[in-house]
Amino acid sequence: MKKRIAVLGATGSIGKSTIDVLREGREYFEAVLLSSHRDVSGLLALSREFPGAALALTGLESAPGVSALPKGVYRGKAGLLRAVAGTAPDLTVNGIAGAAGLEPSLAALEAGADLALANKETVVMAAPLVFALAKKKGRRILPVDSEHHAVSSLLEARRRENVEEIILTASGGPFRKRKREDFAQITVEEALAHPTWNMGPKITIDSASLANKGLEVIEAAGLFNMPPDRITVVIHPQSIVHSMVRLKDGAVYAQLSRPDMRLPIHNALYYPECTPCSLGRLDFTGGLTLEFEAPDFEAFPMLPLAYEAVKQGGLYPAAYNAANEEAAAAFLTKKAGFLDIPRIVEYVLDRDWHTTGNLESPEALRVILEADGMARKIAHAYISENNLCS
Ligand code: MG
Repeated sequence: MKKRIAVLGATGSIGKSTIDVLREGREYFEAVLLSSHRDVSGLLALSREFPGAALALTGLESAPGVSALPKGVYRGKAGLLRAVAGTAPDLTVNGIAGAAGLEPSLAALEAGADLALANKETVVMAAPLVFALAKKKGRRILPVDSEHHAVSSLLEARRRENVEEIILTASGGPFRKRKREDFAQITVEEALAHPTWNMGPKITIDSASLANKGLEVIEAAGLFNMPPDRITVVIHPQSIVHSMVRLKDGAVYAQLSRPDMRLPIHNALYYPECTPCSLGRLDFTGGLTLEFEAPDFEAFPMLPLAYEAVKQGGLYPAAYNAANEEAAAAFLTKKAGFLDIPRIVEYVLDRDWHTTGNLESPEALRVILEADGMARKIAHAYISENNLCS
């Protein structure tokens, strides 16, 4: 029997890579649900290729082209949640960008599907809630972030209890070598030109500010139940070593492959099998150079702010994420400068985000979403009060 797959965010960067893996594995997989936020023509093209799949469009309630979509397309956020429940996938690939991915992740687990998770915000915002639900439903969460996919496979191979330290690699983004005094002049166009990975705009800005790595530190702490002082970030500009683990005996194990998201997605879809994958092989005979260096915490404050957020716990990680989403959006729309991103996030984190609530209970969702909304409001207030970029 074919594995039933739902792809959320099917027209985005992760979605497109997932579709490639589905195309190659037609005899193993059946696409049962494909969703997009606002790419009507992309969704139409997919519906022709996978005529059996239900479709969902979460944004653009009435836009040109919407009428061309077949009848019965699920609409809006509520429609997507209904679609996830109604199509009963075996595995849901969540490639939705940002905090909007949290509720669909919960809906997928609730519906009894395993979760291939590219939406790191799900774990950043709500790790206790998400893991409690996955445990209750007996479902698996398979990380589809390249670093966490690497760590997850290394932990499986070397056993979690033997691991002393998780070492997350970071490309360092486009501004690794830029002089600190020039950071104020960084433009959106420069920030969008990532040296090694080809991704969506928000995550590319996050990679430039190292907020993406900050989110990944929080994600790793949640996914692998590891205290932050045992998670290290190391800059590795080639993006070939996707992460490492250091065992108690001091030996370090690494996962190496080309920077291509189709490998983590391939492995999540075929899990637990290791099956042939048509992606290119690394060639060690052509002079492959691997470099490593320490990240500059002063030049990239989004990294230490993330460590602080995960150390504080409670609603701090959710506030970090929400503030950063607003800051990155403000930078993308030229309402804030590059240096304002960590300033906005630091301002938001200055509030008290501790909570006495039980973050594992189903009621936690409301508390988390309230904190998310509050953090955004505070970020907005900072942006308008300080008249950034004027
Ligand atoms: Mg990553």
